[in-house]
Amino acid sequence: MNLTVIWEDVLARLEKNFENTVLELSFNTYIKTLKPMFEEDLTIYLCAGDETHKDMVQQRFLPILAETFSKAISDATGIEEHYAVVIDTTSELELIAPKKESMPGVLHLNPAYTFESFVVGDSNKFAHAASRAVADDPGHTYNPLFIYGGVGLGKTHLMQAIGNSMLEKNPNTKIIYITTESFVSELIEAIRRNNQEAFKRKYRNADLFMMDDIQFISRTTSAKEELFHTFNTLHQAGKQIVISSDKPPEEIPNLEERIVSRLRWGIMAKIDNPDYETRVAILREKLPYIKQITGSTLDVDDEVLHYIASKNDSNIRDLEGALKKVILQAKLINLDKPIKSIDMNITESALSDFFVEPSTKSITPRYIISLVCRYFDITESDVIGKKKNKEIALPRQIAMYFLRDITDLGYKAIGDQLGGRDHSTVMHACEKIKTQYDSSMEMKNLINDIRQKIFE
Ligand code: ADP
Ligand code: MG
Repeated sequence: MNLTVIWEDVLARLEKNFENTVLELSFNTYIKTLKPMFEEDLTIYLCAGDETHKDMVQQRFLPILAETFSKAISDATGIEEHYAVVIDTTSELELIAPKKESMPGVLHLNPAYTFESFVVGDSNKFAHAASRAVADDPGHTYNPLFIYGGVGLGKTHLMQAIGNSMLEKNPNTKIIYITTESFVSELIEAIRRNNQEAFKRKYRNADLFMMDDIQFISRTTSAKEELFHTFNTLHQAGKQIVISSDKPPEEIPNLEERIVSRLRWGIMAKIDNPDYETRVAILREKLPYIKQITGSTLDVDDEVLHYIASKNDSNIRDLEGALKKVILQAKLINLDKPIKSIDMNITESALSDFFVEPSTKSITPRYIISLVCRYFDITESDVIGKKKNKEIALPRQIAMYFLRDITDLGYKAIGDQLGGRDHSTVMHACEKIKTQYDSSMEMKNLINDIRQKIFE
């Protein structure tokens, strides 16, 4: 897929759309000035000139951009997928840009996620050994392999390492790596277009089938049904299945017993929070890569790695983010006044507000409610109160949806959190949002955007 060509097409479509409307001016100012950067994991990354530009686009044009990209790509490639759009400024985007192009024909495998780059410690040694065993002898040892653990602990890295390793041994291996969300939305699209056969063929022919974050399986019966049959077909054919989740199967809402019991046929590998030594080792492993993508040549004092590792014990992605931030900040300081190396002074000032939020914030019902309110720019007493107008009712329903999805509160308890609403109101709201999520691109983007903010 040539992103520049697709972008031209997207612009042409939007221009037509906005012609002679009040949005024409916004189009020229905010959309035409964006730069397409890269595509990864069904997400298009666009670069904005500065923070204000980024905010404007984020607030107003994300859904239409995502929708137009999806259309343009599907017309160009014949593959129907829902693409998300992420806008950021250059420095942020450079950090997350993939190092090199993924191998042709293999979708969504990041070549940087290998066993070699995976640091093994007590917290993950079992999951690592099981993954290796699977990659060495797929379909025979542990099938399915179910990897679970908290956010940012290396589940995706390990899965992709299995894929990369099998591919290295045999470039013709048919590998499917898909997020559960994409699986579900692709299926719904296939049903809509009466194209289920192609969908089945694609997934049921894999040699290695990996599905990431199964906790996001939707309530729709068709998705669970399809997953169940895909699972059976592959398993019977001796093909390897790898599934990840943030929790053990029996704790995943919406997962039926028959799927849970199939997951139990294989092996469960839990990843725990890494200990301090492992965190330092991971940062040390990542350092050359981070220096490379940030274009920094400055040495980093060992103390700095220890300091960052001491700040958070439950999310490696955050630790990497902290290290990147320090290195970028140091780069700026160095331009101004050359420095010898990155020391604790620079680190402390760069990270002065970095760890504040994650350490005090856990995802509580109150946190979700307040975040949804902030997102829609309404007050908490609005959502808890009696108002029924759309500006308030929709955020309230979305808050209910997230409370149901993320916390383990039941409908009744959710109603209590939101001003004593009854069980059926909450249930109805959750179903409604879920249905819209599955059927409307706009709702999907909205929900995904909020979800990302909740977890970030
Ligand atoms: P998850 O899928 O569990 O949310 P990821 O696999 O996306 O987490 O990992 C988040 C980041 O942390 C990735 O950049 C990954 O490379 C890194 N990471 C996690 N665990 C390790 C490890 N043991 N060794 C090296 N990098 C790791
Ligand atoms: Mg992951």
